[in-house]
Amino acid sequence: MKNTTTTIQEKMGNAAVKQAIGITPAPYPILALGLFCFMSFFAQSCASLLGGMGGDQGSWDDGQAPVYDEMTNPVSFTILQMNDVYEIAPLEKGTVGGMARVATIRNRLLEENYNLLTVLAGDFVSPSLLGTLKYEGRPIKGRQMVETMNALGVNLVAFGNHEFDIKEQELQERLNESYFEWLGTNVLHQTGKKLEPFYKESYGYKYYLPETYVWEVFDYMSGKPIKVGFYSALLNDNQADYVYYEDPYQEATKAYLELMNSCDVVIGLTHLELNQDMKLAALLPKTKLIMGGHEHENSLDTIGNVVITKADANAKTVWVHRFTYFPETKTTSLESELVPINNDIADDSTVEGIVDKWQQIQRESISQLFDNPDEVIYTANVPLDGREKSVRNFQTNLGGLISASMAAAASKPVDAAFFNGGSIRLDDQLLGNITAVDIFRALPFGGPLYEVELKGSVLKKALEAGLENKGIGGYLQWHNIEYIEAAKTWKIGGKPLNEGKVYRIMTNEYLFLGKEARLDFFNQKNFVKWETARKGDTNDLRGDVRKAVVAYLKVK
Ligand SMILES: [Zn+2]
Repeated sequence: MKNTTTTIQEKMGNAAVKQAIGITPAPYPILALGLFCFMSFFAQSCASLLGGMGGDQGSWDDGQAPVYDEMTNPVSFTILQMNDVYEIAPLEKGTVGGMARVATIRNRLLEENYNLLTVLAGDFVSPSLLGTLKYEGRPIKGRQMVETMNALGVNLVAFGNHEFDIKEQELQERLNESYFEWLGTNVLHQTGKKLEPFYKESYGYKYYLPETYVWEVFDYMSGKPIKVGFYSALLNDNQADYVYYEDPYQEATKAYLELMNSCDVVIGLTHLELNQDMKLAALLPKTKLIMGGHEHENSLDTIGNVVITKADANAKTVWVHRFTYFPETKTTSLESELVPINNDIADDSTVEGIVDKWQQIQRESISQLFDNPDEVIYTANVPLDGREKSVRNFQTNLGGLISASMAAAASKPVDAAFFNGGSIRLDDQLLGNITAVDIFRALPFGGPLYEVELKGSVLKKALEAGLENKGIGGYLQWHNIEYIEAAKTWKIGGKPLNEGKVYRIMTNEYLFLGKEARLDFFNQKNFVKWETARKGDTNDLRGDVRKAVVAYLKVK
């Protein structure tokens, strides 16, 4: 028992150091000081701060002590929670979501209580259609999101699993661009064998992300702060090679113990599955609130005294958490309100300007291929499955539809068509009215189609490699192909695959270039012949897979 106590105390000691380094990154100190002085002015206690700095303590006017010294009044503060936001503009024909509307809600909350923190519980830099496009010659990769979040006034985020979809260098750029704090309780940056926290870099200054975050909430009357501490936890599946995922429960527990020692209120900002958040709540029972993400539907659960909340993805709703801390009893009350974000809420003009700029970039990109991107081209009566866990593991109706479109775009009839499931980036299902924009969302990379003649033996090898790629992006989606699992044989157009015969197939650019895992042999050296659209021929549907899909759906 004695040993355990010592260990905890040691950890708490470390915490104090970490917080001292971690909580006030540049350029926050100036802001923080300004805010402190602003509030303290009312309480006439800025003197102690200024005095402390100038070495002349207690010299406020006639030397009297501050009027309001003791903090006995309740201190109230508000947290605005979002999670899993991939789209900055409203969705569903403009009826739901939209970051400019969230900004309006935030402005209203600021008027109600200046003690406001705006947070996002992970998953925002990826995936999105905009993120896959290019701007100023470089892939956008979440830049639109960070710029919007900066303008909105987000203060604190947790890492979500999708933050690591983008390349290491791209994430570094997003970190450097962000004005908000990132909480990295159980994620470390892995470079070779070295492990260190992720960092932000500006003007040559490296600022390492903290494991805990402490928000000082000032009492208007006394000018004194209470401390609200945050820990995080990220699910450790979906591994990226430049990230080291520590155990979310262990690291959150360490952070919690540190914060319990130094803070008045302790809160979790996590990105876990709901059942994991519940387990965490049971483990860390004095947590007041866990604001989570990953699930895309809103929820409110209670485990013991811990409240767990998740908002709907893409800011279709946000949570507003209103806290009151009572210094005399050291207790906290919490009222959580789920606020729908819809077209009853006006846009904040600053954020709207940024969203519009990026929407324009998206429109210009799509209109290079389509005159009328918002025209309804097809109505899906059953959900078309473009979820990652589906398209990388079995044949889906959306995968079949895309490969049938590819076959239909051929200059002369082909025996079959296939492409890598990983080129579907929708991670969602399409239902109801479908537009070219949806097809862009499903196939953001686009690229030409290739009609290839190849020996049956090469075709068989390619299809088998596709099966071995089950679970990853190199799993193939196909048309006119059948695999008879019991016999481990293939049928092409209903007939057994003949290894000596030459087949004509249609495929996409990624496969044609031999870029896919286990499919590097699938290249021009092993083809009998091949053809594609001539460059600049806008009438040839083989010019871009999305043109082929839209044309196919229009007549279907
Ligand atoms: Zn997630």
